[in-house]
Amino acid sequence: GRVVAGRGSPRDLGQIRDGLDGARILRERLGAMAERPALLESLLPALDGHGAMVDLFTRALVTTPPTETSQGGYIAEGYDAALDALRLAGRDGRAAVAAMEARYRASTGIAALKIRHNGVLGYFVEVPAKNADPLMAAGSGFTHRQTMAGAVRFNSPELHEEALRITQASGHALAAEAAHLEELIGHVLVRRDAIAASADALARIDVAAALAERAAEGRWCLPEFTETPDLYVEGGRHPVVESALARLGERFIANDCHLQPDKRLWLVSGPNMGGKSTFLRQNALIVILAQAGSYVPATSARLGLVDRLFSRVGASDNLARGRSTFMVEMVETAAILAQATERSFVILDEVGRGTSTYDGLAIAWAVVEGIHEANRCRCLFATHYHELTRLADTLDALSLHHVRAKEYKGDLVLLHEVADGPADRSYGIAVAKLAGLPPPVLARAAQVLEKLEKGRAETGGLAAGLGEMPLFGAALDAAEAKVDAVRDRLSGMDIDALTPRQALDLLYELKGLAGEE
Ligand code: ATP
Repeated sequence: GRVVAGRGSPRDLGQIRDGLDGARILRERLGAMAERPALLESLLPALDGHGAMVDLFTRALVTTPPTETSQGGYIAEGYDAALDALRLAGRDGRAAVAAMEARYRASTGIAALKIRHNGVLGYFVEVPAKNADPLMAAGSGFTHRQTMAGAVRFNSPELHEEALRITQASGHALAAEAAHLEELIGHVLVRRDAIAASADALARIDVAAALAERAAEGRWCLPEFTETPDLYVEGGRHPVVESALARLGERFIANDCHLQPDKRLWLVSGPNMGGKSTFLRQNALIVILAQAGSYVPATSARLGLVDRLFSRVGASDNLARGRSTFMVEMVETAAILAQATERSFVILDEVGRGTSTYDGLAIAWAVVEGIHEANRCRCLFATHYHELTRLADTLDALSLHHVRAKEYKGDLVLLHEVADGPADRSYGIAVAKLAGLPPPVLARAAQVLEKLEKGRAETGGLAAGLGEMPLFGAALDAAEAKVDAVRDRLSGMDIDALTPRQALDLLYELKGLAGEE
């Protein structure tokens, strides 16, 4: 891309050479296979045909060409005899200057005398200020050029001449290299489409090879696609968490997920750190991998094609863009409720936790109902609101699950196993203890919890009274009814026949029908 845009550097040409040379080796090895998969068979021809250019670039360029052209040095020795001669002249000149420096030291008796070079003065003789007087004298053979704080700089006719030779030789060498570069770039431009096709084929082979390697190493399985909107995963795993645990010598617990039309919404509860988020994400990853054509990290997987996958997870807050954590959570949830279809797959991780308990529970409750009744998509919903489990009484495609944990000798043991039914309790304080909260704080938290739970038992708990709620559908019907009335009024209307006055009256009337007077 850079070369075609006129910004190509010698390094880019070197990379094109190395890449295409790699493609040639790959072509040879894969070509020697007795049996090739169809995809590979169709990609291999795209790797052919760059041999002459790769050979030319191998002869013309040094092994690792620089990105900058200003210093030259990217065209290889032996490619152009005239260029080699110019470089030799430059090198001879620099050797002559070194010899001159030794001579001047001997003739002036100044051991600290140096011949140096910079971009402004070119070559010059430099001596410490205290030694400068003899060189300043007329007839010394040196002319003064610059006085610095501790040093004085001079020129000599002999040095001037040698410097001129060096500059000319290297100027010509640079120009010769630039001309070669131009010519090499010309070769790339002529073959640009073929090079792009090779790059594309390499990229496809790379992706397929990487996925195949993961599948073989991780014991992944070939997913099966069904017509029905199911998501049936046996022994599913989260590939990233699994390899992180493997590095620590720990084992990942595989879990099943069985979403189907009559059990399409799973409410997953359980202790913090129990593995709820991991379970949600692993199933989303399995869907993405399966639909991308990959094997998936499970012992078996069967799914109906997902039209869109939505996730509301983690604390990806966006304070810099003026949105609080809760705001981001709500914006994302709103998008899901507006867009998810019966064919979608949605994971929602602890929606409602970012606000006060009552508000959060109310929102989570309504979101679960909305997903179940309106979106009707496959969904995994992780939550700490135990109260939500009551929704299983009214929502028939909702199914309750939890990640298992048990207490052993006063300590919490997280089993990371997804099991049927609601969680029996929340273990928040036990997890806080695992995290190292100081004992006085833990003891106090336990006291407060006891009080709260007592209060809850007396009043019927957070969700007391929710049993008498009208169904979600009733709220939906009321909203629908308004839309229908507006639609009826509009359908028989001939807008062109209205006077401005009638049109305005109609607007008021429609607003009334929508219940917004
Ligand atoms: P919270 O409620 O605090 O958000 P959570 O239930 O969502 O917690 P995760 O974040 O999913 O918990 O998991 C916490 C940790 O538990 C992970 O980082 C991982 O180390 C471990 N873990 C999760 N699932 C498994 C599993 N199936 N097998 C083994 N370890 C797991």
